[in-house]
Amino acid sequence: MSDLTQLSAREIARKVATGEVSAREVTEASLARIEAVEPKVKALLTVMHEEALASADALDKRRSAGETLPPLAGVPIALKDNMCTRGTRTTAGSKILANFVPPYDATVVKRLRDAGAVIIAKANLDEFAMGSSTENSGFFTSCNPWDTERVPGGSSGGSAAAVSACEVPIALGSDTGGSIRQPAGFCGVLGLKPTYGRVSRYGLIAYASSLDQIGPFGRTAEDCALQLNAIAGHDPLDSTSADVPVPDYLASCNRDIKGLRVGVPKEFFGQGVSEEVASVVRTAIDKLTELGAIVVECSLPYTEYALAAYYIIAPAECSSNLARFDGVKYGHRTKELAGHIGLTEKSRDEGFGAEVKQRIMIGTYALSAGYYDAYYKRAQQVRTLIRQDYEQAFQKFDVLVTPVTPTPAFKAGEKADPFAMKLADVCTLPINMAGVPAISVPCGFVEGLPVGVQIIAPHFQEERLFQTAGAYLRATEWNKQFPSV
Ligand code: GLN
Repeated sequence: MSDLTQLSAREIARKVATGEVSAREVTEASLARIEAVEPKVKALLTVMHEEALASADALDKRRSAGETLPPLAGVPIALKDNMCTRGTRTTAGSKILANFVPPYDATVVKRLRDAGAVIIAKANLDEFAMGSSTENSGFFTSCNPWDTERVPGGSSGGSAAAVSACEVPIALGSDTGGSIRQPAGFCGVLGLKPTYGRVSRYGLIAYASSLDQIGPFGRTAEDCALQLNAIAGHDPLDSTSADVPVPDYLASCNRDIKGLRVGVPKEFFGQGVSEEVASVVRTAIDKLTELGAIVVECSLPYTEYALAAYYIIAPAECSSNLARFDGVKYGHRTKELAGHIGLTEKSRDEGFGAEVKQRIMIGTYALSAGYYDAYYKRAQQVRTLIRQDYEQAFQKFDVLVTPVTPTPAFKAGEKADPFAMKLADVCTLPINMAGVPAISVPCGFVEGLPVGVQIIAPHFQEERLFQTAGAYLRATEWNKQFPSV
């Protein structure tokens, strides 16, 4: 493996800015690594060879002309394939969008380009981000670089696997119920879900709009901070993006955690969390104490209702969002001529996979006249209670710490029962319901498979995530291990 592919984004950007290496060299190294490992990892749906080399050359040219380069200059990045890239196919992991080429860039894509990042690939995902393993992808299942018989997690499994296998130093994913943090945990990298509203969703193909949030993957806290610096902030094109100032997240990574008040919610150590995972996470928590944090057990009593309420709200919103795929405006259209209604029915039947269809049906049912109050409204009320749990806890604590997943990565095919699959997100779903930010940080191994610890902060306090993750990783270096793939 070339050394360039093991460098952090921060180191790459520094070297490119000083001319120590060219953006072209970095891009070529990344493309070579992709070619070498993709047959085993299968993280990517589209590799953008020409576009990536062209943007690298443009950056090198700007440098030779004496320009100061932006903070992510020359850094290769992969994007989950539910973010629109102008001129490059964007599938959302669905056959219904297999040939969809967006006429515009998502706001995050535009901001990354402005920050100098070189977009090199579109990463695999569960169809429309519904799933926890990439097995629901309409194209293929990605593999976990630590054990290719196992899944990388999902739905942003391709992004996590690509960073873990050093195909790219950084990537973006989206997280509705855990889709950044769970695959980050499974693949031994960092993954951050920002506060709802911190990052624009304009150009993100919607799953459940009140929960979806875009966030970064990286192998260091600093690399996640650099990405959030670039993508966070108000966007007039997304009315739910918040007009809250964006601090310099990079600066938080170097702070210590002396006196930081850490709550450990006891509910997160039930919920089917294996003893091995719990023990690795408890060791990580002991480390925080050693580093000067004040750790106290606490309670978030409504945690146990999060999964049930989530699986009303998310399908309800998905059924409404996915109504736009009608076989008429764009996306797959059936070859059979069947009249207007027939055309829509047939196109959707051919284009959507089983999990997506199931959720559209559940969501449509939950929103139907007569059922709305019993299901959707009630689930929203539960959501308010969950949010209040967090607001109360954050009156006493600066951050909360929990496991990310109940177990390490499972084998492909192991969770054929869709309910068993959904339990993979019990520790991450409540955080989306509360709208608060959280990060998954590598904290050890169980039988050779990575395990993550989840750090949760109050709304718009992502700085505390970087502070805690930065201090923890300086002391442990669990993020310095590479899979042998
Ligand atoms: N696995 C959860 C679901 O299928 C979460 C997915 C996500 O965060 N996009 O809904």
